[in-house]
Amino acid sequence: MNRIKKFFSTFLLLELWKGMMVTGRYLFKPKMTVHYPEEKTPQSPRFRGLHALRRYPNGEERCIACKLCEAVCPAMAITIDSEQREDGTRRTTRYDIDLSKCIFCGFCEESCPVDSIVETRILEYHGEKRGDLIYTKEMLLAIGDRYEEQIAKDRAEDANYR
Ligand code: SF4
Ligand code: SF4
Repeated sequence: MNRIKKFFSTFLLLELWKGMMVTGRYLFKPKMTVHYPEEKTPQSPRFRGLHALRRYPNGEERCIACKLCEAVCPAMAITIDSEQREDGTRRTTRYDIDLSKCIFCGFCEESCPVDSIVETRILEYHGEKRGDLIYTKEMLLAIGDRYEEQIAKDRAEDANYR
């Protein structure tokens, strides 16, 4: 009996028609496909993309070189060197993040006492040669300067839950 059923199923292309019915059911429904990069899905204010270093409104770097982010990073992607300035405060002389090691866990951001290192909404970046994905302090500060408005807005939106 099973063999007869199988014969007719193959002969009448039943599986194919079943598949076509599924296609037909969805043919005129609203499309869920996003035409990236022209269209983009909504992002959460907690989105963990490319890193940035922030400054205070007076231009002073927020980072106080406490190295908590370096210590907490599970991928050991952060390298910091620091020195004391003439005014007695400590600042970094080197702050590198190796994005080829980073797993975007957000621990660095969570550990920072002064909201200096943050992860932005930027997800479109690339490297073409070895070393391109090592972001230096200057690069991270430049990203912070450029996107400060969005970064501050996202932090304010999330403040009640932190
Ligand atoms: S997001 Fe996680 S893995 Fe990446 S630098 Fe920060 S702590 Fe390290
Ligand atoms: S970014 Fe934040 S956690 Fe990392 S060294 Fe600077 S102040 Fe400390």
